[in-house]
Amino acid sequence: MPGQIPQDFIDDLRSRVDIVDVIKDYVPLKKQGQNYKGLCPFHSEKTPSFVVSPHKQIYHCFGCGKGGNVFTFLMDKGGFTFVDAVAHVAKLCGVAVPQEELTPEKAKQKSLREKYFHINKLAVVFFQERLDSRQGKAAGLYLAKRGLGKEIIAKFALGYAPNAWDELGRYLLSKEITEEEIITLGLATKGQSGKLIDRFRNRVIFPIFDDRNRVIGFGGRVLDDSQPKYLNSPETPLFNKGRQLYGLNLAKAAIRDEEKAILMEGYMDVIAAHQHGIGQAVGTLGTALTAEHGKLLMRYTYNVVLCFDADAAGQEASLRGMDILRQLGLRVAVMTIPDGKDPDEFLRRNGQEGFSQLVKQAPSLVEYKLAKQMEKYNKNTVAGKVQILQALIPDLYQVQSPVERHGFIELIAQRLSLSETVIYAEMRKFQTKTGPTRFSKHEHEETAPVPSGPSLNAAVKGQRFLLKLLLEKPEMLPEVEEAGGKELFTDQFYQEIYQIYYLLRRSGHNIKAEDLITHIEKEETRQKLTEIILDDEVPADWARIYKDCLLTLQIDWLKQKIAEKNALMIEYEKSGNVTKSLEILAELQKMIQKRQSLVSTLVKVGNSLE
Ligand SMILES: [Zn+2]
Repeated sequence: MPGQIPQDFIDDLRSRVDIVDVIKDYVPLKKQGQNYKGLCPFHSEKTPSFVVSPHKQIYHCFGCGKGGNVFTFLMDKGGFTFVDAVAHVAKLCGVAVPQEELTPEKAKQKSLREKYFHINKLAVVFFQERLDSRQGKAAGLYLAKRGLGKEIIAKFALGYAPNAWDELGRYLLSKEITEEEIITLGLATKGQSGKLIDRFRNRVIFPIFDDRNRVIGFGGRVLDDSQPKYLNSPETPLFNKGRQLYGLNLAKAAIRDEEKAILMEGYMDVIAAHQHGIGQAVGTLGTALTAEHGKLLMRYTYNVVLCFDADAAGQEASLRGMDILRQLGLRVAVMTIPDGKDPDEFLRRNGQEGFSQLVKQAPSLVEYKLAKQMEKYNKNTVAGKVQILQALIPDLYQVQSPVERHGFIELIAQRLSLSETVIYAEMRKFQTKTGPTRFSKHEHEETAPVPSGPSLNAAVKGQRFLLKLLLEKPEMLPEVEEAGGKELFTDQFYQEIYQIYYLLRRSGHNIKAEDLITHIEKEETRQKLTEIILDDEVPADWARIYKDCLLTLQIDWLKQKIAEKNALMIEYEKSGNVTKSLEILAELQKMIQKRQSLVSTLVKVGNSLE
């Protein structure tokens, strides 16, 4: 990550400085056992949960999860860039920073990207100034009419693009930005006369930030009813709207705190929500939900409430969106604004309390679909019941938790006046059609289920333990790599940590856990790493737990592979490609056998993770 400063120097520097000395300048710390404790500088708290370890030279907050080493602290808290943070620490230690040459290509890319962010920032300032000027009077009135106060306008850095052909273009040219750069960022196009024409004219401007608070693009809304109502930046080197969520930079802390994100459609909805104290609202940028959106949310929470428009198109969109999110493992609920109002309108009338009530009442995916199906079919006829049930079974099948699934089955049984046994029977039919055992047939009779492999919780615990062990006993790496390597880590953060660690080690870098932090760019991943480093010591009987871990993770991995292969086989069967489907069947059988034998080994030795 660092670029021009040699890595060895950075690692060496980190071992010379005492992190406690650096952090003490920012946070009062008290010695407590081996560590120091203080009030977290990253979130507000009354009892200290911010821990600094002089032994490991890292910090970690057990309240908000922030963590890192001396460099990340200076970057996050002191506002340093990485290079400045290194220079700062070097100065404290009284050493000079050596310089390493970036390849010219890399240096060019890096500085170009930085320049693009800088240009977008200039554009934000330009738009904000225009909103405050006489030109922006109508736009100001429009925002006031929508009920937005000065504070929220500043928070979202709203602005106004004047009703002129090339004001922004000329402004940027005067700041020594080139035509090419302006066009690349989608801020203007070239007209037939060869002159620049601003993309956004006479529109309220919504700057779009990434989750690291950098401006990546813009949205613009007209002040009247002309079309298009909304205009976004085109795809640029910085902007891809299928991958961004509006307002995430402002919402991420609240999403973590509330353990829930509220996903909305429009810019105005998100802003109105924040203005009314619903801080965990984010927006899709007028595009259909993508898996990328889901993954972005999963960095902060596993719970999503969809708050989409009530019209038919909006409902279709939310149904598709839910499926995408659910397939990623997110828990999805759907809230409906009564009387077909939009969220903005509802908030203005009912405020935070009314809205929070709707969020709380939002039905889960299965309940929502059940209601939709009951509108469509007649639940009083047998045919109707069958149709409703068949529409819901694929969703029931996807619910991971048996307890939760049972709850849904109870609900459906009650609403359709069916016995639960009938529903379980339908599910088994579905299951034999689609593949591997997912439900024990005795599940609803509350007898012990057939061991079908480790629980999810055990898998996550296992991944964490394995990483902790590998960080302290790198000599185990080859064996883990052989057993499946990064594939074993289904948690994306753990997987990233493993992969970076493995690659550094393989390239002969004798890296220590604490130094690994410097190589990890994503904050969430870093937090997971500091959490692991601060974790309890590796126990004396680690070898036994290690074996369980490896087995558990291999079994889980195979389970997923089997499901994938199975789906593939069904595809081939459907398309009539018998040869291929038989080929896959053979592979599948081998995998199932392997998994069986791993499971029985695990059952025999007893799993210490469960
Ligand atoms: Zn904290």
